[in-house]
Amino acid sequence: MAEFSLDLNEEQRDLRDWVHGFAAEVVRPAAAEWDAREETPWPIIQEAAKVGLYGFEFLATCWADPTGLSLPIASEELFWGDAGIGLSIFGTSLAVAAIYGAGTPDQLVEWVPQCFGDVDQPAVAAFCTTEPEAGSDVGSMRSRAVYDEATDEWVLNGQKAYATNGGIAGVHVVTASVEPDLGSRGQAAFVVPPGTPGLTATRKLRKLGLRASHTADVFLDDVRVPGRCLLGGKEALDERLARARTGQRASGQAAMRTFELSRPTVGAQALGVARAAYEYALDYAKERVQFGRPIIENQAVAFALADMKMEIDAARLLVWRASWMGRNNRPFTAGEGSMSKLKAGEVAVSVTDRAVQLLGGAGFLRDHPVERWYRDAKIYTIFEGTSEIQRLVISRAISGMQIR
Ligand SMILES: Cc1cc2nc3c(=O)[nH]c(=O)nc-3n(C[C@H](O)[C@H](O)[C@H](O)COP(=O)(O)OP(=O)(O)OC[C@H]3O[C@@H](n4cnc5c(N)ncnc54)[C@H](O)[C@@H]3O)c2cc1C
Repeated sequence: MAEFSLDLNEEQRDLRDWVHGFAAEVVRPAAAEWDAREETPWPIIQEAAKVGLYGFEFLATCWADPTGLSLPIASEELFWGDAGIGLSIFGTSLAVAAIYGAGTPDQLVEWVPQCFGDVDQPAVAAFCTTEPEAGSDVGSMRSRAVYDEATDEWVLNGQKAYATNGGIAGVHVVTASVEPDLGSRGQAAFVVPPGTPGLTATRKLRKLGLRASHTADVFLDDVRVPGRCLLGGKEALDERLARARTGQRASGQAAMRTFELSRPTVGAQALGVARAAYEYALDYAKERVQFGRPIIENQAVAFALADMKMEIDAARLLVWRASWMGRNNRPFTAGEGSMSKLKAGEVAVSVTDRAVQLLGGAGFLRDHPVERWYRDAKIYTIFEGTSEIQRLVISRAISGMQIR
């Protein structure tokens, strides 16, 4: 078990400075353009691949950090540069994490490189679980996976909603119900290899924020994938289903734990957006003169900035705590993963709102990036579980009761 320390070690400081440099020099200068174009920033993904910020090696190095802090540190810096471009670069890691978490070593070796493509021609991957009728209520998923014993193939049918990189991805990882009566415990995840017939997507969805990140609905129409595409393999699935039929809850709890583990990283992304807005507003408040003095010399303004800084630091402590706990297999007895994402998401929304306010009319204009950060921040109270769902997880954990 790694000691928890707020003193970053040398590797973590180097990582932070390196990602910050990329965010400052490559990502932030391009942010307004790709936000306006509402297109996936392929040249920047390629640049990230060239410097080693996009690829499994980078993720594996972060995951190997025994303190668990490397990924949140890198995420905060990259998303400080821009959340839309940040998600275009880190969105693939959702699919990779699913393969890593549920797949066998052979599946990892086969599919992960295909998620990223190569440096000259990077690819992105998508993780598709949300459906039009199954968002927060993951257990009501309607997509079906049926095993065809004659061909050793799985046949997938259904519709997925709001998939990041949906349709433009090479590898799609999709979840589907194998045994609907078992709810979330009857579900499994499948790799749909690049170019598989039957998988189609809508045109990209138009969004409030994160506009450089591609989002689309994905349709599965008799999509046939080889048996080896079932993550974890059939034997493990059969055992899991047998346990679930006898009422054992282990697999459902395992799925919840996977979500809990990914949430601090999403919280760290929100922190990046919040910090960007806070820093910009602080500089502006020192420069902007009204009534003969910089506006920061008014307590109302200075106190707002003090609160913004305090809230960001408080959220970061929760994110780092949950990341350390997750990496060191400490049980989340009070929904600590959810707490981190909930707090960071709500801080991002309130800090960006205050930043717009502190800039006055300038904050409302596209001439300054705070309006974009304000739009981008909102997603962090919605995806990877809404704020209400995080509160449900925490309430259930602290009460031991089925709060609804
Ligand atoms: C930009 C973007 C990218 C996304 N990327 C992905 C992706 O890559 N892969 C993927 O699978 N999904 C993705 N999603 C989907 C996202 O995770 C869902 O939108 C989210 O989980 C909420 O589901 P929903 O939209 O169906 O809302 P609903 O579940 O319909 O919720 C609507 C409202 O009801 C509230 N609510 C629901 N149930 C309860 C309850 N029991 N108690 C209290 N309140 C409740 C919610 O909190 C919310 O406020 C993405 C979404 C967006 C917008």
